[in-house]
Order: sequence, then structure tokens, then C-alpha cells
Amino acid sequence: MTSQNPTANKIIVIGAGVGGLSAAIRLARQGYAVQLLEARAQAGGLASGFTAEGFTFDAGPYILLDKPGLEWAFNELGIAAGALPFTPIEHVYHVLHEDGTATAFDRSLDTTAAGFEARYPGSGERYKAFVIKMMAVHANVQPLTFHSHPGVWDVLRNGSLSSVPFMLSSLASVLDKAALPPELQESIGIWTHIAGQPMTQAPAPMAFVPGLFHGVGAYYPQGGMRAVAELLTATALKEGVDIQYNTKVKAIQAPGGRVAGVTTVAGEFWPAAAVMSDSSGIGTYVELVEDFPTPEKEKLQQLPLQSPGTCAYLAVRGRQPPYYIRFKLRGAGCTAFVQPGLLAPELAQEDWFPARLISPLAHAEAEALGPEGQSQLIDQQLAETWWQEGIIEYKVLHRRTTFEWGRDYNLYRDSMNPVMTSRLMLKGRLAHRSPTVKGLYLTGSSTHPGQWVSFCAIAGVLAADCLAHDLPVPHAA
Ligand SMILES: Cc1cc2nc3c(=O)[nH]c(=O)nc-3n(C[C@H](O)[C@H](O)[C@H](O)COP(=O)(O)OP(=O)(O)OC[C@H]3O[C@@H](n4cnc5c(N)ncnc54)[C@H](O)[C@@H]3O)c2cc1C
Repeated sequence: MTSQNPTANKIIVIGAGVGGLSAAIRLARQGYAVQLLEARAQAGGLASGFTAEGFTFDAGPYILLDKPGLEWAFNELGIAAGALPFTPIEHVYHVLHEDGTATAFDRSLDTTAAGFEARYPGSGERYKAFVIKMMAVHANVQPLTFHSHPGVWDVLRNGSLSSVPFMLSSLASVLDKAALPPELQESIGIWTHIAGQPMTQAPAPMAFVPGLFHGVGAYYPQGGMRAVAELLTATALKEGVDIQYNTKVKAIQAPGGRVAGVTTVAGEFWPAAAVMSDSSGIGTYVELVEDFPTPEKEKLQQLPLQSPGTCAYLAVRGRQPPYYIRFKLRGAGCTAFVQPGLLAPELAQEDWFPARLISPLAHAEAEALGPEGQSQLIDQQLAETWWQEGIIEYKVLHRRTTFEWGRDYNLYRDSMNPVMTSRLMLKGRLAHRSPTVKGLYLTGSSTHPGQWVSFCAIAGVLAADCLAHDLPVPHAA
């Protein structure tokens, strides 16, 4: 920080997703001059919203499963508790199995367990015992979520040593131990189907999900999931973050392994004291950092990716079953029908409500299908009748293939992030503080074990704190 360059004290944040916005706020509140460069014309990234024919949609995320995590991040960012009201979801999700049977998950543990007991005698109590056990493990390890890179000492100090074998196992092995019928195991593991990964590869912490929604609850933020990004954007502006839209970063310049600044697609050079990237973690190294060593690139390129899948954005009319999300299982994958109109009647226009038909896809499958094949897949799923129960009429207002996700949201190889497998948990995710490029920090979903909006906000705080530790705020800035 000895340079005379008047912009040398600036921190450049690449990307105004939840991760980038959170990091920018955290840094600005500590006195850094923060310049946020966003390729799109709007902030929020995958968590932003859009309007089609007068209906407002969340582009991507549909449910908040980790309210405590988001509240932790908000608190660290100086956002008042209650700034974002949440609607609790009572009838959380319903799973239609391939054999036509169904399982349903309510906020109430008793109601959910009673439903299981009626269908699979003996399973109600086993499910309750499983949920209670997972809640205890979660309580034991949750504080580690708020460490950038928890080491042995953090684990010991936190009293989490006994949970280490659990954390390093797979979801399949945890569910096997619970001795629940296969249909229930599949329904509990539905969140891994969304990531397009088999339960044998999924990390054990996915088993915390039922404990989260039976315990603290699952929520729909008032104003939609996009309200999270909108609140962060307003806070960033209030804290003095300078957001420049329609500015795509082409390269991070790091001569001699030390960040000097970034070059935009338009050819401008922005010098920086440090760079915080909310662009894909893998993409940052593989596509943005100039002269990044090839062997390191090749290692990163081998990480399995998570696809955003396909989505049809609909307006529907009729009386729908009460479950906020209805899944249909199909082999290792699933389709999800999401109905925010059940929780937010103000979204209606006359008696039409917005809804989404989402098909998660494994990244390799999405690539193999290609844009044509994915478009046909959307058509096939629209033609199915299971999601149309109670619906008299529907209109398709917009649709998106993974190729369109990639193009519209600047995704690396049309992916959201590396899939968080149990192996990646073991090896460690992408670090907030780059181990190879001095002055480069990563935030967002690539850097946290879990890829939810809440985790991206937590990642923003933790990555910013790494930067602040290395580069104390210049008082003379
Ligand atoms: C279909 C779907 C369903 C989901 N469901 C849920 C859910 O139910 N609950 C949940 O919590 N989460 C869910 N998620 C995940 C959640 O949306 C994401 O994890 C989160 O929004 C990612 O935030 P981020 O900050 O890491 O990155 P992003 O949102 O990808 O933001 C990155 C930003 O950086 C910009 N950018 C990228 N490269 C450049 C560049 N070179 N120059 C300038 N700008 C650049 C992009 O334009 C973008 O604005 C879902 C996602 C999808 C797609």
C-alpha cells in the first residue's frame, strides 16, 4: 500500500451476486473504497428477479432453508434484524415417486412423521430420531460455518471433534444408518437430486435439511428470494460502494503472482490494491487470471460442476395442492414445480399466479443434451400432467436452457459452481484467500460448503475479513 497511484487503495469486486454484494458491504463498512464491476445491467446474479408479461419471478432460488445463516451474515453486514420479513412455509414439499406413491414434508415434525408411519409402519419414530440426531450434529458443527478455513484448532475449540467422521461421510451412509425405507431416503435426499449428484457422492451435511425446516423452519422472504439481493444492493449503495453495471471483467492482471488490477471487455484497465471475485471460483482462475499456471488450471478443470438446469416460467390458474414445492423423481434426477403464489397472494393478477417448472440436470447430462435437447426436455415436462393437478389453464411466459443461464448470468461453462461432493468437503473447497495469487480473494457459492444464498452471503463476510486481515484499511485513503 505504498504506491502513489490514486486508485491503488481501491478494492475491485467482480460481480454483484449475493457473494460479491456481501463482500463489498463488509469492506465498505470498514473504510475501504470499493468498486464493484458487474457484467449485467442489474445486481443480484442468480438471485435476482425479472418480470415477464407483468408477473414477477425469482430467476433461480426458490426457498430459504438456512434462515440463521442469512441472519448471521446480515448482522455482520449491519443489516437490522427484521429488515427482511420472512413468510414461514407450513407445507414445505411433496415428492411423487416413480411408482406413483408420494411422500410429504410439513414444517411440523409430528405431522410429517405421522404421514410416514401410516405408510411405512415403524418409520415415524425412526424419522423423528433421525431428525433429532441431525439437529444435534448441526448445532455442534454450525459455528464452523462462520470460519473461513476451519482448522484442527477451530474444531477442537468448538468441541466439534466428534462430528468430524460424520462431516466427512456421504449422505447415503448417513441415511443408511437411519434405517428408513428407500422411498423416505430418496425424499430426504431430494436436495442432492437438485444438484444432479447421487447420494453416495453427496456430503453428509445435506442430512441437516429436515432438521432445519422442522426446527427453525423454511421461509419465503417477503418480496421473493430476489428481495435478499435487493436489500444487499440497497445496503451496498448506502455504504458507499460504487457499482458500475454493464462492465464485464476480461482479465485479472497479476504480474509476478501479485494482483495489479483488472481489464474489462471494453479494454479499460482498473488498478486495484486487491481483487475480490464473485465470478465462478474455477472460472476466475481458468479464464480471468492472466498467466495462471497450467497444471493448477488443469486440476481445477477436473472438478465436477453443478448445472442450473432448465426452467419454464409460467402463469397458472386454478386451485393447486398446498405444497410450496412439488417434486417428481425420475431416476437420479427430478423436476420441481414451485408455487410462490401459495405464499404471496399479492403476486396474482386476477386469478393467475406465477409458478416455475424447474428441471435440475447433472452438468454432463446438460452438456450432452445441448440447447436443442434441453428445449425438447422443457416441452416434454410441460406436457406431463402431474404438476398440472388442480390447474385449469397455464401460459408459458419465459423459458431458459442451461446455455441461456450461462449466457445471461455470465456462468463458467454454464455452471453455478463446483458440486459440493463429500470428496470436495474432504479436500476443502476453493479458498477465500487465493493460495497462488497474492491480493486475490474469492467469494460466493464456489467458496462455501453448500450453495445456498445464505452461504454466499456468509462467504462474502468471510472473504472480506481475509482481505482486511492481509491488507489493513489505509487510513490515508
Ligand atoms: C435454478 C436455481 C435454483 C436455486 N435454488 C436455490 C434455493 O432454493 N435456495 C438457495 O438458497 N439457493 C438456491 N440457488 C442457488 C443460489 O441462487 C446461488 O448459489 C447464489 O445466488 C449464487 O450467488 P453468487 O454470488 O455466488 O454468484 P452469482 O449469483 O452467479 O453472481 C455472480 C455475479 O457476477 C457477475 N459476473 C460474473 N463474471 C463476471 C465478470 N467477468 N465481470 C463482471 N461480472 C461478472 C454475474 O453477472 C453475476 O451477477 C438456486 C440457483 C438456481 C440457478
